[in-house]
Amino acid sequence: MTRRRWIADTWDEATASLVGGQAAHLIRVLRAQPGMEFDLVAGGRVFHSVIAGIADDVVRFNLIAEIQADPALPVTLLISIFKFDRMEWAIEKAAELGAEGVVPVIARRSEKHLAQAAAGRVERWRRIALEASQQSRRSDVLRIDDPLPLKAAILEQERAVRLVLAEQERSTTLRHALSEALAAAGDEMPAIRIAAGPEGGWAAEEEAMLDAENWKAVSLGPRILRAETAVTAAMSVAASLLE
Ligand code: SAH
Repeated sequence: MTRRRWIADTWDEATASLVGGQAAHLIRVLRAQPGMEFDLVAGGRVFHSVIAGIADDVVRFNLIAEIQADPALPVTLLISIFKFDRMEWAIEKAAELGAEGVVPVIARRSEKHLAQAAAGRVERWRRIALEASQQSRRSDVLRIDDPLPLKAAILEQERAVRLVLAEQERSTTLRHALSEALAAAGDEMPAIRIAAGPEGGWAAEEEAMLDAENWKAVSLGPRILRAETAVTAAMSVAASLLE
């Protein structure tokens, strides 16, 4: 039987707790009782756990035994801000497919009002990441960074493999570039960063900037994909090579 999995809000050596919204859901919807068993993620480790006590909006668990769980894949997606409903879908899929992090990026063609509203959306994106991570039984939560302008986002993590999705690229596929990078890294699992443009695509000056910072342009094939499809397809190509 697979037990339902929760990500603990607080924990120590032997116990862990859910508080607030997660606890309320467990108490009211799932009618939590002492003795009920769940899997609980605490500090990136997963434990078979049993409810020890319920008080107000806190559910306390005893951790019984650690369970083996797969870590996230070392992939961070730089997602240029685009329509929020579609972007939320992309974040949910990134969590399911095992991405480690998402950096929401303000690109030149991200719509102005969306770019301005992005900082206020981060909490919602984090909630979506938490729910999708739990639902897909991850041992950790997809990390959502604070939004950054493209220029700042591409300067970070110099040692990572850096790939930019570009629909006009014809010769190098994402699959090929990633396979080469993995072969070159030998036994080590390199950190990978993949950037996707907004609905209107990258501006020429952004392409020049990415190129100057050694981001390699890669293709997902000859068809133009919507931004959320490009992000999801890229993550599944990466997952197929890394799992
Ligand atoms: N400039 C385009 C659409 C951009 S699609 C237009 O004609 O309107 C949004 C983003 O998805 C792009 O910036 C790119 O990062 C990614 N993308 C879409 N299709 C792609 C493909 N076939 N290969 C690589 N990246 C792609």
